[in-house]
Amino acid sequence: MSRLPVMSSKRVLACSSAENAQDLAPAQKRLRKDADPVKPAATVIGTKRPALAATRAPLCVIKQSVASAAAKGGNMKQPVASTGTKTGGTQKRNPWDLKGKVSDMEDKVRNYQMKVKTLNQENEVLQDSVSQSQRKMVQVEKELQIQRSQIGEYERKLQVLAGVQDELEKVLSDKNFLQKELTNLEGKYKVMETLRDSQETELQTLKMKLSVQESTLARVQANLRDSEEEVRSLKETVAQQKDEIYAGEMERRRLHNTIQELKGNIRVFCRVRPLVGGGLPKHIQLATSDNKAITLAKTEESHTGKTADTQKNYNFSFDRVFGPRTSQQEVFEEISLLVQSALDGYNVCCFAYGQTGSGKTYTMEGDEFDETRGVIPRAVQQIFKAAGKLGEQGWEFTFTASFVEIYNETLRDLLYTGKSSKRPEHEIRKTASNEVTITNLTYERVINEDQVLGLIALANQNRSTAQTAQNDRSSRSHSVFQLDIEGVNAGRDVKCKSTLCLVDLAGSERMVKSQSQGDRFKEMTAINGSLSNLGIVIAALANKESYVPYRNSKLTYLLQGCLGGNSKTLMFVNIAPEPDSFGETLNSLRFASKVTGTPCPGGDSHSCLLLV
Ligand code: ADP
Ligand code: MG
Repeated sequence: MSRLPVMSSKRVLACSSAENAQDLAPAQKRLRKDADPVKPAATVIGTKRPALAATRAPLCVIKQSVASAAAKGGNMKQPVASTGTKTGGTQKRNPWDLKGKVSDMEDKVRNYQMKVKTLNQENEVLQDSVSQSQRKMVQVEKELQIQRSQIGEYERKLQVLAGVQDELEKVLSDKNFLQKELTNLEGKYKVMETLRDSQETELQTLKMKLSVQESTLARVQANLRDSEEEVRSLKETVAQQKDEIYAGEMERRRLHNTIQELKGNIRVFCRVRPLVGGGLPKHIQLATSDNKAITLAKTEESHTGKTADTQKNYNFSFDRVFGPRTSQQEVFEEISLLVQSALDGYNVCCFAYGQTGSGKTYTMEGDEFDETRGVIPRAVQQIFKAAGKLGEQGWEFTFTASFVEIYNETLRDLLYTGKSSKRPEHEIRKTASNEVTITNLTYERVINEDQVLGLIALANQNRSTAQTAQNDRSSRSHSVFQLDIEGVNAGRDVKCKSTLCLVDLAGSERMVKSQSQGDRFKEMTAINGSLSNLGIVIAALANKESYVPYRNSKLTYLLQGCLGGNSKTLMFVNIAPEPDSFGETLNSLRFASKVTGTPCPGGDSHSCLLLV
């Protein structure tokens, strides 16, 4: 492609016509052959240049003139041949014809001169032609140069175009890729369109549902507004009723306390244990009219036999007398009112007094079965239940339990779980706020009934490990279970604090002095001393005496906070029904009577409380 302009240029430069250009080369060859033999002549004559017009004449014209000159030269020989003899076509002169020979020679010379002249002309023409050709060549070379630079230019463009080609190919492959993508997307689009259609349908359905629901919502909102209004008025009513409930609760507490006070802040219940074989003992008579009286009847045989046997009756009355068939539940119903008082903020103290085997432990702790459970587990159950209910009125309670044994005027922690060798000693102290506390004692925070029952079990375990078969320590020690109750009603800014004390006292039986020696005597003295003092303290409280000898025994000193003032004190006097326990039963009943300040049948008031 790049050669095309060059070729066309040559064609233009060589000759005006293709025919002349073809003829030029053989003409030149011919001229050189002919010129060779006359070379010396040409050097002689060559100085003479042909006319300018002739040199510029085209090559084809030169050819013609050479041809005509050759023809003329041929013609010049012809006259020479006619004047002499011919050899090989030429007439040969005779040896003598010198004149003719000279004439021939002259002819020849003329002929050659002509030829030389012609050749010179041709030479000039050719030189012109050569220089012309050289100029043209220079021209052509310039053009060639231009063409080459153009070619270079074209090649650069070509390279650029090759890059463009690559890019084009890349663009094409991209295009193919995009085409595929497009097809793919078109497919997806169709799927989406289908999806959109189905969703539009769904949307329509949902719109319809929405409008239905909107109208429902509007209706519900209207109802809600009404309800809110109702709730507001109900809240007001509830607040009002809460106030009324609180006022009612406070009133109930007041009335409950009034009733308890009217019943007596110090009460004594008598409980008769059933006979081991069942049935009722003859010497114990319970009043049928009410359940407050008990009579101990003693038949005295006539010593002479002349008179009839005499029967001596000892009549006692108490706040309540429970016969041998009274269930644990019935017994507790009476005490539950005092348990309620404990939650209301009053100290409550409940003792079980009586000889060993009279049923003190059965009354206070009972057996493990539901029906035979005693006062302590039932009281604990009631307290947690009632505390839960009071919680609804804004009360929050905290409970702290402790279990202590008093043996021989020494305190022992029944909730102690450490090594027995490291058992600490305890002392009763009074705090700055005049509260009684025991040093080193386990005070266990409890939150439910089960926890308390666990502690009672632990206490029993601790008690039984301290006793032997011969030495029933539990009957000669007092066990004191204390539950400290603290109630707070933050909303009303009210607090209450109380202690519920449930005491299983040591056996009250007297011993024959001669039989008790050593440790036994010491035990007896301690028990009788503390029980007597308990009786004196309670009697002093009942009689509202100015001096109450709390400090005379560990038991009364420990219970000081729970006795007196607004405190409620309840004493169970447990009696054994066996006839051989008559004397102890009588003593117990006398002691109990004295505690309440009632006349003491068959004895003076002081002797009733003095057991030793
Ligand atoms: P105490 O603690 O006064 O020494 P207990 O409570 O151990 O006496 O009672 C002695 C026995 O009599 C025990 O076996 C007990 O189960 C039984 N007992 C006591 N009171 C009753 C009662 N009200 N009903 C049935 N059994 C009783
Ligand atoms: Mg007991």
